[in-house]
Amino acid sequence: MVKKAPKRPGLKSRSATPKPKSRKHVYFFGSGKADGNRTMKDLLGGKGSGLAEMTNAGLPVPPGFTISTEVCTIYYERDSKIPSAIDREIEENVRKLEKAAGAELGSTENPLLVSVRSGAKFSMPGMMDTILNLGLNDQAVEGLKRRTKNGRFAFDSYRRFIQMFGNVVLEIPKDNFEHEFDGVKKARNVKLDTELDEAALREVVDRYKGVVQKRSGRSFPQNPGDQLKMARDAVFRSWMNPRAREYRRIYDIPDHIGTAVNVQMMVFGNTGDRSGTGVGFTRNPATGAKEFYGEFLINAQGEDVVAGIRTPQPIRELEQVMPKAYKQLREITTRLEKHYKDVQDFEFTIQDERLYMLQTRSGKRTGFAAVVIATDLVAERLVTPKDAILLVDPESLSQLLAPGFDPDEWKKIPTATKGLPASPGAASGQVVFSADHAVQWTQQGKTVILVRRETVPDDIHGMFVSQGILTATGGMTSHAAVVGRQMGKPSIVGAGALEIDEQGKLFRVGGHTVKEGDYISFDGLSGEVKIAQVASKPSEILQVLAGTLDARKSDIYRRFDQLLSWADKSRRMGVRANADLPDQAEIAYAFGARGIGLCRTEHMFFGEGRIPIVQRMILADNEADRRRALDELLPLQREDFYGVFKAMKGTAVTIRTIDPPLHEFLPKREELMVEVARLEMSNGSSKELEDKRRLLQRVEQLHEFNPMLGHRGVRLGITYPEITEMQTRAIIQAACRLHKEGLKVVPEIMIPLVGHVKELRDQKAIVDRVAEETMKAAGIRIKYLVGTMIEVPRGALTADQVAEEAQFFSFGTNDLTQLTFGFSRDDVGKFLRIYQDKKILDKDPFASIDIDGVGSIVETGVRLGRRTRPDLKLGICGEHGGDPSSIHFFEKVGLDYVSASPYRVPVARLAAAQAALSVKVGD
Ligand code: PEP
Ligand code: MG
Repeated sequence: MVKKAPKRPGLKSRSATPKPKSRKHVYFFGSGKADGNRTMKDLLGGKGSGLAEMTNAGLPVPPGFTISTEVCTIYYERDSKIPSAIDREIEENVRKLEKAAGAELGSTENPLLVSVRSGAKFSMPGMMDTILNLGLNDQAVEGLKRRTKNGRFAFDSYRRFIQMFGNVVLEIPKDNFEHEFDGVKKARNVKLDTELDEAALREVVDRYKGVVQKRSGRSFPQNPGDQLKMARDAVFRSWMNPRAREYRRIYDIPDHIGTAVNVQMMVFGNTGDRSGTGVGFTRNPATGAKEFYGEFLINAQGEDVVAGIRTPQPIRELEQVMPKAYKQLREITTRLEKHYKDVQDFEFTIQDERLYMLQTRSGKRTGFAAVVIATDLVAERLVTPKDAILLVDPESLSQLLAPGFDPDEWKKIPTATKGLPASPGAASGQVVFSADHAVQWTQQGKTVILVRRETVPDDIHGMFVSQGILTATGGMTSHAAVVGRQMGKPSIVGAGALEIDEQGKLFRVGGHTVKEGDYISFDGLSGEVKIAQVASKPSEILQVLAGTLDARKSDIYRRFDQLLSWADKSRRMGVRANADLPDQAEIAYAFGARGIGLCRTEHMFFGEGRIPIVQRMILADNEADRRRALDELLPLQREDFYGVFKAMKGTAVTIRTIDPPLHEFLPKREELMVEVARLEMSNGSSKELEDKRRLLQRVEQLHEFNPMLGHRGVRLGITYPEITEMQTRAIIQAACRLHKEGLKVVPEIMIPLVGHVKELRDQKAIVDRVAEETMKAAGIRIKYLVGTMIEVPRGALTADQVAEEAQFFSFGTNDLTQLTFGFSRDDVGKFLRIYQDKKILDKDPFASIDIDGVGSIVETGVRLGRRTRPDLKLGICGEHGGDPSSIHFFEKVGLDYVSASPYRVPVARLAAAQAALSVKVGD
């Protein structure tokens, strides 16, 4: 039976960027020479390119070959069929491998066993499938026994192979095998796998073959060539399994790039006590400390370490057990770190005291570790500051700003248990025992901690939404640890004292019983778990910025600051913040924003005691009444503007005139109707009833079917010019006051939602007139700019005309996305996920700019605007201003600055530097 490839909706996009297909599809590595190298990640995947590079560097790598990612694409394009020319190329490489290994697939004398592993360009830990010990059959297993003089080992390898092959390739659920295995153990009255002797394992093999026959309707394939083809195809299929797709969605990895398949001579960490296997990092991936870090298991195969089934030993202990292999491993990994100029995450196997390297790649790390490592590597002169900028994922900086526990509060609560501190951070929330529950509960607005015996790749969706992850088994490199670190989720693994009853939805620890829904808290840096909800406190960086901690006392602050100051030197675009009130502006400035890109003045209307005045302004049915209310608002707005200008210390501040539909400031229509009806029935105060009726009447007048497409933005300023007048007066008066105090001030007045140049002309005339009057009255002249948001497609398409009036543009990519797609910003959530699942959209276009559509409108706006006014100042103030991949796009388009929310400013500074270092304006 040939399994068909699952449907692959995203595949087509590859044809959008046609690439010449190379004729070579299989790349050999072995005997000190490889066809590939480190630059070929697209074709060979991360693992394949790493194996090639290590082979070329003369490191002890078992020989093998990599089937390129192009073959994966071909597999899907050709309906799960691989052309015979590629099959022949694979066969040639098998022969070459047999020669290099001095062994033959299926041989009864000296059988070659291989591993078949996935390996995409971006690492996706545990998401795809692997098959080990391939090549064994009823004859070869006897050959293996003869060669190794170890029958137990030979049959253990064979039963592992049948189980993996049966599960991954033939899709037989694991339980079927485990059931038989447990049966044999029970019959022999043993507990551990290692207690089964050769005869017992022969019986396991027989039983497993029975399972295969029964469940798949065919006998276990004996021909190694067939085994290899089937395993290869299963790895290709695993590229599209649900967990791999979910992982790619979270990490923004395109579906069309496919995976490579690595076929490599097996080496065995399970031949006895002089063998072992392990994984490690050249530095601590949780804290960044420069220490050899990792773990190993004696007498085990690689999967045992990653799967978290047995708790492994710290790697330092290898020095005692096998000093020679340990020394060699240290030398090799230090060399690899120097060679790749980055922390390496490696896998190794020791077979009878001989060391083999199985993988090296850039190590995934927490945001905290990323900053420590990047600054250390510069200090060690291993990399330049520019290289260091590129080593840190901008998104991960937000982990450094996340809160920790208040140490005093934390100390008060007894520690219930301790586990391995896999990923730092403070987590507090309600316990859930399944990934699905984690998702459901968070959708209900709860904060949860996912508690599992061990996590599996299928848990990815639940891990993503949880505050933290706590497991009972597994080591620092188990699935939960690796994924938790990468997501920046506080995680504790291997908390062995937890007795978890996942069915009963509870766990017991130290005499306590914790049920689903109970609160726990844990510290991912110390590994302590407490049964309570514990208040957290701001991160060290925030404490320094707030002036409550001395910068000299915070190592991480100094590193963070150092990295970002390197970034500032490398970036071309400015970074501003979207902030509405003076205290937000202060935070933004402290985070390094140099300018405000958007001050939404209407947010000030919600300040204490202001809403009644705003309502009076809205309810006024004549201009005189409206002006009276506006006169009351004027001093309040002036104070706010003064505060924002002052906080920004002479950098530019863009203040936008009123934008949202007015009904947002009034009570809800339906609620008012109910109240009026209630008052009518209860014979209540007639004054109150009269007021409510009047309010309801005005609310009815203002009611709109599509308020976001309605009476808002510049349309308000045009219908009520006195609002624009009041806001201009408040801005210029505040600026004049600062000027008088000897402080620099750069106001930029921005008109929203302009689609026609005449709208802007109308408003600009008001702004200029009122500014002139105000400055005259103050006896002061200040420089100010008048510009517009470009957020209506017509505004961008006629940007050459709009630029005749505008001195600057700020792209409002929130509304521009809404109006370009015709998706309501507030309702898109109802179907967006389905669009993403069906691959109609790869990403949420409100989070990451839609380059093809919205992006092309931005480009048009830039081109036309600059045609009229070459010095036009260009910025972006939609949410995309804080999104690294959108920032890349804005760099290419040549914007002058991005504006992000205050807490995203560090992310934007680093992303803007990375963009400047990796792309050019006009690319
Ligand atoms: C925008 O539309 O991108 C924008 C920044 O304005 P708002 O989100 O306030 O509509
Ligand atoms: Mg807008």
